[in-house]
Order: sequence, then structure tokens, then C-alpha cells
Amino acid sequence: MSPEEFAKFYPPLLDWIRATLAASTPVAQSVATRAFARLLLYFTEKTLASTKVVIIDPLPMPPLSSMGLARFADFERGNFDGITYIDTFFLKPSQSNNENTHFHELVHVIQWRLLGPDRFLFSYANGLECFGYRQSPLEAMAYDAETAFASSTAIFNVEKLVAEKLGL
Ligand SMILES: [Zn+2]
Repeated sequence: MSPEEFAKFYPPLLDWIRATLAASTPVAQSVATRAFARLLLYFTEKTLASTKVVIIDPLPMPPLSSMGLARFADFERGNFDGITYIDTFFLKPSQSNNENTHFHELVHVIQWRLLGPDRFLFSYANGLECFGYRQSPLEAMAYDAETAFASSTAIFNVEKLVAEKLGL
């Protein structure tokens, strides 16, 4: 995706994201209130308090086709467990007690924060286009960190890890 094309669809996409977050405010809970035992060891209290989670089915997917991005139709129709927009992630009810899924989406929250919405969405769209969902760099980073979290009790600083991997 060229920067020119991105510049065209970024404003309506960001509008859609902001409207989606505003509509979910009444049912959003802070991740800190979910009382997961291990998340506090990997993220700061501030991050857990400021990140919100919404349990919902279906997940709100951006209307990319109607924005003229027909080549992302597969992503739009994809069957995902969760999706993150800025400081809020949306999870299917099946994931509401899954700490690993919460961890994965929190990695995306850090990516959104460090890159900012414009660079996050540009990188995400390009990653999706060039490598597909699972191998796209921002997803691969979240899946690798989730695997490390799920398979070992070794504690690592996720915010630092993401910053390093993003080259910031
Ligand atoms: Zn992900």
C-alpha cells in the first residue's frame, strides 16, 4: 500500500475506530479489574488500568471493502478471537477467561501506543498485504510473545521488548 493510498483511507478508518470505541464505552471494563494473576508481572499497573476489554460477538471489524479496500475482504471476514483498536481490545466470549489471549492483545495495545494510530495502521496494512495475517510483523511479534508467556514462567518486560522489536 502506498503512502498516498493510505492517506486516503486513514481518516475514515480512524473515524470508524473512534466511533466503535465510543459505542463500546458503556460495556468496556479495565483489564486491571479482570484479576488475572500473571499479567501484572509483564505489564505496568498503568497499562492494565488504562487498557479496556469488551467481550462481544461478533467482533467489530472495519468495513474495509466499503472503504474501497476490497483486497482486505478476507481479513474483514476473518474468524478471529480478538482485535485491538488503540487502547481497547474486543474478545469473543470464548476468550473472556483466557489470560494468553489477553496477553496477546495487550502486546497490540503497546504497539498502538508506541507507533501511534497512523504508523500502526500503515504497518499493519502493509504487513497483511505482504505477508498475510499470521506472518505479518506486528502479528508475528504478538504471537511470539504470547508463546513465550504461555510456555514459560520467565518474566520479561513486554513494553521494552516491543520497543526494541519496533526499533524505537
Ligand atoms: Zn493479534
